[in-house]
Amino acid sequence: MTLSFLHPRDEILALMQRIYGYRMTTTSGGNLSLKEDNGDVWITPSRVDKGGLTRADIVRVRPDGSLDGVRAPSSELPFHLEIYRRRPDIRGIVHAHPVALVAFSLARKVPDTRVFHQAWNVCGRAGFAPYELPGSQALGRSVAGIFAQGFNSVILENHGVVTAAGDLQEAFRRFETLEFAGKTIIKGRLIGQVRYLDAQQLAMPGLRSWEFEALDRDTPSSLERELRHRLSEFVRRAYRQRLFISTEGSYSVRLDASSFLITPYRADRATLAPADLVLVENGLVERGRKPSRAFRSHQAVYERHPSIGAVINAYPVNATAFSVTGAPLDTRTIPESYIVVREPARLPYGAHFTDDYAIAEAVSPQRPTAILENDGVLVVGADALEAFDRLEVLESTAEAIINCRAVGEMAPMGDQVIRDLEAAFFPTGAA
Ligand SMILES: [Zn+2]
Repeated sequence: MTLSFLHPRDEILALMQRIYGYRMTTTSGGNLSLKEDNGDVWITPSRVDKGGLTRADIVRVRPDGSLDGVRAPSSELPFHLEIYRRRPDIRGIVHAHPVALVAFSLARKVPDTRVFHQAWNVCGRAGFAPYELPGSQALGRSVAGIFAQGFNSVILENHGVVTAAGDLQEAFRRFETLEFAGKTIIKGRLIGQVRYLDAQQLAMPGLRSWEFEALDRDTPSSLERELRHRLSEFVRRAYRQRLFISTEGSYSVRLDASSFLITPYRADRATLAPADLVLVENGLVERGRKPSRAFRSHQAVYERHPSIGAVINAYPVNATAFSVTGAPLDTRTIPESYIVVREPARLPYGAHFTDDYAIAEAVSPQRPTAILENDGVLVVGADALEAFDRLEVLESTAEAIINCRAVGEMAPMGDQVIRDLEAAFFPTGAA
């Protein structure tokens, strides 16, 4: 459990704004609650515009059923209370109607979270609750009955999704991760056969070496302070642009020949501050800090390629759809894609978990993009901006290729066009 000093009203408000702001629910759909140690449940109100919600709108429901608030509680209060009653370990619940998961609910299916090791670890297997009237006690029994079987993420037939956890932040993380898995599966199915991981593959991230020695660091230089500021801005932007999800996505920038700054393990990417970034120097990690698990792969890239100044592991949904299928990502779409993305390398699942240098050997300044099977994409650049731009171009390219399927067969740029682009943009033959 994360220790939170936010008042329940503020915690619920902040997450609701985030869910609505990222179009993970409509203004009328969706409700959040959390339960305190004393048994009080705080929940979003009924019939209030999600775009204009204030902290005063949040309602407290006491254990004796009495209400405290200027609004009526969400009409879905019955299923929230029933889940808390059946599962005493649960302290936070998210319910919404995000479009990808609603699509699964209409098809009476659940997303198979074995598409990513993170989705499997964060969400577990998703459950399915049969349809009941919204707001009814019967819906409460139906949904809570599935949670009572041990599921923590449940698709509601012809309705939406409920996720729950030991705190509301974790319930949100499950919600966002499940929606991301659902979206990726949908996009993947548009371009090919989606590959799911088996038990042995799901265990592979655990093989990655996770021991590191601590660095007793010096006072940060002004360059380090500047880079911390810039990198934290790019990380928050990557979240806003849906290139990262809240706790997935690693971003690093080189500080000098032997050190770099990288995102921390598991911290929320939406609110990352300069001080949250972790300094790695000669393989030693700033004392008391935990870097992204990808830090050894990033370190190997900086070691092998002196001109590379930034590395990003990301999960933008369209490019990631290519990582969960065998569909080729042909960048001969428009000149910008071909010039910026180049020809992506493709790494088999798990290569970088067992070999720190697998990525460093696959990418270079001339081949700055890689598709990591069932693990998103990786880009490198001379600096944080170049890598970020490349990631956006990669994602736009992937989306255009997927959308093209609905329009007609893609006609890649021809050989002469490619030769002209090479001559104009890479005249030294360096590329
Ligand atoms: Zn609903």
